Amino acid sequence: MTYVARDIVETRRAVAEARTAGKTVGLVPTMGALHEGHLSLVRASAADCGYTVVSVFVNPTQFGPGEDLERYPRGLENDAKLAGDAGAELIFAPTTDTMYPAGYATYVEVERLTDGLCGARRPGHFRGVTTVVTKLFNICKPDAAYFGQKDAQQAVIIKRMVRDLDLDIEIRVLPTVREPDGLAMSSRNEYLSAEERLQATCLYRALQRAEELYAERVRSVGRIIAEMTAIVEAERDTRIDYISAVDAEELSPIEEITAPALVALAVFVGETRLIDNVVLG
Ligand code: AMP
Repeated sequence: MTYVARDIVETRRAVAEARTAGKTVGLVPTMGALHEGHLSLVRASAADCGYTVVSVFVNPTQFGPGEDLERYPRGLENDAKLAGDAGAELIFAPTTDTMYPAGYATYVEVERLTDGLCGARRPGHFRGVTTVVTKLFNICKPDAAYFGQKDAQQAVIIKRMVRDLDLDIEIRVLPTVREPDGLAMSSRNEYLSAEERLQATCLYRALQRAEELYAERVRSVGRIIAEMTAIVEAERDTRIDYISAVDAEELSPIEEITAPALVALAVFVGETRLIDNVVLG
């Protein structure tokens, strides 16, 4: 059985022991409710590193008012089993008080890259993410940390934070894992009714259309977004939060695709907000 540590001292001790034994350390930060998307990161870490830590923490500072913090799915026992089977040695599952004790006052903010896409729609979200990830890095001291392309903006922001703050950690970003019908795996997919689950494939279908248009040499962002919008709006219970194309590194808005572009969308299917993306070029 994988060891579950709830406190910081215990985690530091376990990681230090692994290090003394000459092992490299990989970290996979998660909010739990683990699925194949998370487990692909755990397996990658276990393949690269001698010791893999999976953090499971539903981080309140990255949720906005009225978002799903309280009802976010939780199941530590099952998560520990899944992570262990995928090759993790340690689960770090702190309480909120452990991570944010009374008097907590310090945050990490990345500028500009957090302005658009999900950053514009979820104020403060990425400040919460970069803060908790910095804390997890300081607690677990990994050589490498693993993130999913599913959260493309998050991956770009964390890479930039690591570069800007000279953190000695390699960031590895792995491809989005999908259900057989293309829906990106997400802990939030659990919220979908059967009817919504069928409609939810429209995100992937819209992205596939974007890829097709790009392959047909369409470079106009306006044209691509218009066609994606039509695909999403054809579903009854969808509401578009955003559909955008931005420079894949700077995340700045573009009108024509002349360099690698991140095409990303966020869509409410019923009450559930889903995101997905593809890189073109
Ligand atoms: P979360 O638990 O949603 O915070 O996600 C934890 C990590 O798993 C993040 O780096 C996500 O990008 C990654 N992840 C979530 N879903 C997927 C997926 N479908 N494919 C690949 N990585 C994923």
